[in-house]
Amino acid sequence: MKAVSVFPGRRELRLVDCQEPRIETPTQVKVRMLDVGICGTDREICAFQYGTPPPGSDHLVIGHESLGQVIDVGSGVSRIKMGELVALRVRRPCMHPNCVTCRTGRQDFCYTGDFKERGIKEIHGFMTEFVVDEEPYMSRVPRELREVGVLVEPLAIAEKALLQVWEVQQRLPWACPPAPGKKPAHCHRAVVLGAGPVGLLGTMLFLENGFETFVYSRGPVTSQKALFVESVGAHYLCSETEPVEHLAERIGNIDLIYEATGASQISFELLEELGTNGVFVFTGVPGRKAPIKIDADLIMRNLVLKNQMIFGTVNAGLRAFEAAIRDLGIFMKRWPGAVRSLITGRFPIDAFRELLLGRLEGIKNVIVFDRETS
Ligand code: BGC
Repeated sequence: MKAVSVFPGRRELRLVDCQEPRIETPTQVKVRMLDVGICGTDREICAFQYGTPPPGSDHLVIGHESLGQVIDVGSGVSRIKMGELVALRVRRPCMHPNCVTCRTGRQDFCYTGDFKERGIKEIHGFMTEFVVDEEPYMSRVPRELREVGVLVEPLAIAEKALLQVWEVQQRLPWACPPAPGKKPAHCHRAVVLGAGPVGLLGTMLFLENGFETFVYSRGPVTSQKALFVESVGAHYLCSETEPVEHLAERIGNIDLIYEATGASQISFELLEELGTNGVFVFTGVPGRKAPIKIDADLIMRNLVLKNQMIFGTVNAGLRAFEAAIRDLGIFMKRWPGAVRSLITGRFPIDAFRELLLGRLEGIKNVIVFDRETS
C-alpha cells in the first residue's frame, strides 16, 4: 500500500510502498483511511523542521488528521463495530511508570516528553491506505459527519483549550448570568488570532458557547476567510487596517484570546490588549527565529494588576475528541455550508508533493484515499 513518507536523513519526501498492517492483538482495529487532512505541522515535517521516524526506520509516514472506516476488529474489541467511521487520536503514552498523566490516559499532558505521536514523532501516521491501532485510541464518528469528520482532530485542539479555559476560570465568578436563550459565555468577548483551520474551527466553537467572537488576521476583509468569519456571525478584523494597539478600545474588555498563528511578535502585541481577568491561550509553535522585542513591563503589570492568565496547549485527549465530534454535529446543523466550505480541496494521494511543499492554498486540504464500502 502507498504511504506518504519523509526521509529526514536524505531530506526527501516520497511515496513508499509498504506492507498492509494486520491485526496482531485482540484489542486492535483495522481501518481503511478515507480522508487525511494536511496541516501546518505536516508541512513543517516535510521541510525537515520537525518530525522523527520510528526507531530503526529511515522514514516517517506522516499524517495525523484522520477519518477512516473500520474494516476488521480483534476478538477483544467491544465498542467499535465493523463499518463504522472513526477518528484516531494522535498521541501515545510514554512508558515511564512515574508519568502520572500517561499512566492515567492523559498523555496529552505527558511529563517526560517520551510520548509518541502518530505521523509526527516515532510512530508512522495516517497518510496511507490502511492503519491498525488499539481500540481505545479511536472515537466513533457518526455517519452524518462523513463529509467533514476529518476536521475532528483540528477542532479537538480548540476543544481542549476551551475545556481548560472553563476550568481555570473557576478561580473567579466567570460564568455569565444565565439568561433565557443565551449561551454560557454570552457576556464574554473572544479574539481569535489567525484565520487558518484551527482559528476558524475555534471561532465556531467560541460562537457556539456564546462568546462575541472577533477574528484578527492579515488577509483583506474581502478574503474567503473573512467572508467565512462574517457568515458564521463573528467579526473579522484585518490587521492591515486595524492596529493591534487599538483592539481593546475597539472591542471592549477582551476575556479570551486564542492564538492560532504561531507568530510570536503579533501574539505578544495582542497579549498587551488582553482584558481584566482575561485568559490568553497559545496553540501555535513558532520556528526558532531571532529574538523579538516585547514590552515586558507592560505585559507583567497587566498580568498582575488585571489577574490575567496565560497558558499553552498541545494535542488533544479523549474528552476533547468526544467534544469535537459532538460539536461538529452541532456546527453542521447551525452552519452546514460554512463547515463544508472549510475543506477547500480534496485530492488524490498523488498530489501529496504539491500539497505539502507547494504554496499554501485554501483553508483545509484533504487527501482522499478511498471510497467508503457499505
Ligand atoms: C497536532 C497535535 C500534536 C502537535 C505537536 C499538532 O499539529 O495537531 O496533535 O500534538 O502537532 O506535535
